[in-house]
Amino acid sequence: MSDECKRIKRAFETAESALIVSHLDPDGDSIGSMLALGRILSNLGLEADYYSEDGVPKVYRFLPWADRVCNRVAPDKSYDLVITVDASDIKRLGNKIVLSEVGKLIINIDHHPDNTNFGSINCVHLTSSTAELIYKLAKYFELKIDTEMAKCLYVALITDTGNFRYENTSKETFLMAAELIEAGISTHEISTKIYDTRTVPMIKLFAAAMGTLETSENQKAAWVTVTQEMLQKYACRSEQLVGLVDHIRSIAGVEVAMLFREEKDGVVKVNFRSKDKVNVSEIAQKFNGGGHVKASGAVFHEPIEAVKAKVIAEVLRHPS
Ligand code: AMP
Repeated sequence: MSDECKRIKRAFETAESALIVSHLDPDGDSIGSMLALGRILSNLGLEADYYSEDGVPKVYRFLPWADRVCNRVAPDKSYDLVITVDASDIKRLGNKIVLSEVGKLIINIDHHPDNTNFGSINCVHLTSSTAELIYKLAKYFELKIDTEMAKCLYVALITDTGNFRYENTSKETFLMAAELIEAGISTHEISTKIYDTRTVPMIKLFAAAMGTLETSENQKAAWVTVTQEMLQKYACRSEQLVGLVDHIRSIAGVEVAMLFREEKDGVVKVNFRSKDKVNVSEIAQKFNGGGHVKASGAVFHEPIEAVKAKVIAEVLRHPS
């Protein structure tokens, strides 16, 4: 990573303005990495702007500087640097900004295997999380990891490793976590904020979603469905469905789990998870999506029943 670090350092030292951009449907890693990177830049004397087309999900709004994240960039505004975090492809950033128009130099920091290296500088490594790369950058710059930065990095780390359960968790991940704890964070307080603040309607929606559970004949594929009607009935937003698909994967014998969710304006999103044998990133890619071997997603502009039919047929073609 040191070659990219050198180039990034040069870019940070010469830039007078910077925009940090997260991906659509932002998760803990993209928000945490974005905010931690902002603190690195601030320490280096550069105050960045933050952009997320889908804003910041409520559960991450306790993070320092989360209120600085905007979902629009002023027309004609252009930055010396645009730094994308946790996004494997330009299309993951949304369609309201055109990278080449908002930035002179694009730095792409990401950990997805299917990253398309769309940046002028690409810092792409298969670490547990993008946060691990941001942490390494902070180290490269010899910056002190303060409590606030540690909070952002820790949220990113636990959300992308399933609380250190997934196989992307390495010795480095734990060493990083140890240092974040040394920086003064309360892991219990953060875990409570992330995992133990569901509302009663959210739990009722989860229960209703569980009620839609279907499986393939051999029960190796299982899926649930959340429609707009269900979201409206429980007054929930689809960002509040985080974690639902992981419950489906937790069923004994299930190799592929899916959540089909109906968004507004005829959009349908599918979250894929796999346990051991199936590469769900390949399946998602068939539908213009992507992600990791064991966690991926895709977006559709078709009725949900049509999406389910073709996605399930594709999943069943993959032996598990
Ligand atoms: P999620 O199910 O939203 O937690 O996403 C799992 C993984 O798939 C994450 O690494 C996402 O960045 C990636 N992902 C989700 N949706 C898409 C998509 N439409 N295109 C590419 N990657 C995606």
